Amino acid sequence: ELILAVETSCDETSVAVIRGGKHILSNIVSSQIDTHKRFGGVVPEIASRKHVESITLIMEQALSEAGVTFRDLSAIAVTQGPGLVGALLVGIVAAKSLSMALGLPLIGTHHIAGHIYANELVAEMQYPCLALVASGGHTELVLMESEGVFQILGRTRDDAVGEAYDKVARTLNFPYPGGPYIDKLAQGAEEEITMPRAWLEPDSYDFSFSGLKSAVLAAINSAKMKGEPLREAALARGFQASVIDVLVTKALRAVRETGAKQLLLCGGVAANGGLRAALTARCEEAGIPLLIPPLKLCTDNAAMIGAAAHLKWTRGEFTPLDMKAEPGLSLEEWSVRS
Ligand code: ATP
Ligand code: MG
Ligand code: FE
Repeated sequence: ELILAVETSCDETSVAVIRGGKHILSNIVSSQIDTHKRFGGVVPEIASRKHVESITLIMEQALSEAGVTFRDLSAIAVTQGPGLVGALLVGIVAAKSLSMALGLPLIGTHHIAGHIYANELVAEMQYPCLALVASGGHTELVLMESEGVFQILGRTRDDAVGEAYDKVARTLNFPYPGGPYIDKLAQGAEEEITMPRAWLEPDSYDFSFSGLKSAVLAAINSAKMKGEPLREAALARGFQASVIDVLVTKALRAVRETGAKQLLLCGGVAANGGLRAALTARCEEAGIPLLIPPLKLCTDNAAMIGAAAHLKWTRGEFTPLDMKAEPGLSLEEWSVRS
């Protein structure tokens, strides 16, 4: 089957055509980063307007690159949540119109399920598996006992990893989004300023990054006040080392304790070079099969939405046409019916 998927949850307008939940015929991503950069973050109103401006063109591009027409499609998938409500709405209105005009089933899709199923586009997911989701708005350990069944073992109690990266980067005057800048700085650093690690309770799979973020910001501000050199690289390395240590240690413990057969890394922060390298090394050591999508599929894109929607397609679980944008959509509730 051919699924046309639409993703507009944040600041990327994306449309993809996916065959059989696995093969990407096209995956057009138009990023608004340049627009939001000067504000130091995503401005919701502007994001919605930009989505409206570009969605039609992106859709045409996706179809033409895939070499298919509307008549060839089997279903329309769209990100229903989580995300910015106004941004989600643009994709949802477009998807509903298509679904209605073409008489095709509509599949409201969970954005984080999409990040996880990005892995299915490049490899074979094997169950039970454990996903470490690290993105701009989420940091979670998700257990999947079987296909399409999501159970959240732990999540951040405050900042998401990507959010902490972006805040630290902003204080260092890097452009938005700052994750890649900190990553580069950290990997090239010759020294490291040691930063705290938030392990929480010994048996907890939850995360906390606001204390770490505050420690880094305090170090930056105190150097600024004393007129001392900033040692940006050493700070970035200390920050990144703390993030990686906690993420990798908890993810590996969860794999051990759940008996998962595979570990999946996903979300925008999966683009982090330091995290990819550390996780790869530790998994190799421990004999744990690890999947990480290529960079293009880690950050927001519609192909991953099509891959997740395929789960619902094969089970005939479609979404009513009166579906609404759900900024707080629950991943566990989005699981396939048993
Ligand atoms: P969510 O998926 O939780 O709704 P989002 O869609 O905004 O949030 P993504 O697009 O998945 O988030 O990821 C964007 C985040 O990834 C940003 O916070 C960005 O700084 C971070 N990021 C991207 N590349 C890197 C990197 N190399 N190192 C660290 N962080 C990175
Ligand atoms: Mg984005
Ligand atoms: Fe995302």
